[in-house]
Amino acid sequence: MITVIGGGPAGRFAATYLASAGEKVRIIEKSGNLGGQCLKYGCMVTCGLNDAARNLNQLAKLRKSGVLDAGADAHVSMQNLWKELGAIQNTIFKVLDNEANLAGIEVITGEVSLAGRDIYINGALLQQSDADKILIATGSYPIIPKIKGIDLKGVYNPHTLQSLKEVPKDLLIIGGGVIAAEYAYIFSQFGSNVTVVCRSAFLRDKPERLIYCARKEMPDVSVREYTLVEELKSAEGSDSSGFVVSAVLKSGKNREEIPCDAVIVASGLRPRSDNLKGIALDDNGAVIVDDRFRTNVDGVYAAGDITGKVFLTPYARMQGIAAAKSILGEPVPKIPEYIPQSVKLFYEHTFCNMSSGSSEGEKAGETMREFSLPAPAGPGSIWSVSERYTGSSSIRVDAKSGTVKGIHLSSPSSGTVGAYMAYLMEKSLNVKDFGSFLEVHPSTDGLYMLVKYGDTLLTKETK
Ligand SMILES: Cc1cc2nc3c(=O)[nH]c(=O)nc-3n(C[C@H](O)[C@H](O)[C@H](O)COP(=O)(O)OP(=O)(O)OC[C@H]3O[C@@H](n4cnc5c(N)ncnc54)[C@H](O)[C@@H]3O)c2cc1C
Repeated sequence: MITVIGGGPAGRFAATYLASAGEKVRIIEKSGNLGGQCLKYGCMVTCGLNDAARNLNQLAKLRKSGVLDAGADAHVSMQNLWKELGAIQNTIFKVLDNEANLAGIEVITGEVSLAGRDIYINGALLQQSDADKILIATGSYPIIPKIKGIDLKGVYNPHTLQSLKEVPKDLLIIGGGVIAAEYAYIFSQFGSNVTVVCRSAFLRDKPERLIYCARKEMPDVSVREYTLVEELKSAEGSDSSGFVVSAVLKSGKNREEIPCDAVIVASGLRPRSDNLKGIALDDNGAVIVDDRFRTNVDGVYAAGDITGKVFLTPYARMQGIAAAKSILGEPVPKIPEYIPQSVKLFYEHTFCNMSSGSSEGEKAGETMREFSLPAPAGPGSIWSVSERYTGSSSIRVDAKSGTVKGIHLSSPSSGTVGAYMAYLMEKSLNVKDFGSFLEVHPSTDGLYMLVKYGDTLLTKETK
């Protein structure tokens, strides 16, 4: 018997692989539903919110250009949005339950505490044999910074956001990463006055052009970099159980109090290892695994966000399958070096191995060159041409070999394009490889053009 603790992307994919190999598998999931954060609080929820926000944004553009008659402004009902999104989540929960059922996976609802190899479900010891194996896939949870007043009503995080009843008038977002940026865009389109407060730079380490595009898509959002939220206050002070009404910000020696009727904490994720005893953890609480996903305890493996590597669904899924293969004694596939990721705003801003000013993936002897072009107009960006903003794409190329080492693409469909490009980069994509590439037109994918252009420029340089 193999026990998988946690029914998120890592746990589900591992369990399905193991069951299809003929193993007896059970998933123990505390929330009562399979799908993990991705479905309950993360990717799917942000996707639903972003779709609504982008449609409002597109409507506003069409109104501004006179293509649509200026009618009454569209408003978002948060209560209806959550109701509809909840119904969609319920449909997907059923699909996942059905899949588990068909695969022959037993699903148990309960909270696990692990002490070495001993599994306790809601405090009761589970009988196991010595040959049984365990996979820890307990994922991660939002980091809540220690700020005075953080427990006030009206302060949300990705796990509690679905209790926000109205579009806030003045929204404060704490955090400067991808999730913070996505919430900032969404709520600015919903009509909130949004202030983003980040301890360091906004979208730190992301490609410079991506940051430029992101800021362009949220012109009304006030971004306070290198600023701390010192205190959140209600009308009765920060120790009360009242609703948040203001925040005290501190930047250098300056203090400022700004109004806010809601706060979203988007300060990153932390591995969920509180219930694990006797399992070796690193300083961030991530379970330490070797290259076969084995922990320090014999027969106990770990995969997904709990390993603290990359907090992304496809990565968690891939690790889950790799850990399952390891449990079965099969060769474990190499996890790719090139990991594509997106920030979803009006456009999708996809990047891979391309941080601002970085030398990621750079080995001795490689001479990196960067090229960029505006993205072409096409579906999803044609009505932005009048704003002179169709997005942008950039590549990093090793000038000696012509191998593409990094990409950034801000365009409506960049998530799909970027994922294939990352795959090709893993296979050592060269600027010469796109010579006979035929695109579908009209498309907003400017990357293939850029790769062709990179070839022309590098060839000129070497002449
Ligand atoms: C707001 C937000 C937006 C995101 N957007 C994206 C995105 O656009 N794209 C992307 O790729 N990724 C995104 N992510 C990240 C993605 O959701 C995670 O990387 C992914 O869900 C990790 O999968 P996992 O299986 O490792 O863990 P999780 O999804 O966290 O699942 C772990 C499961 O284990 C259960 N569990 C935990 N402890 C116990 C216990 N003791 N006993 C029993 N069960 C337990 C939990 O209830 C949960 O169901 C986002 C995350 C958030 C929060």
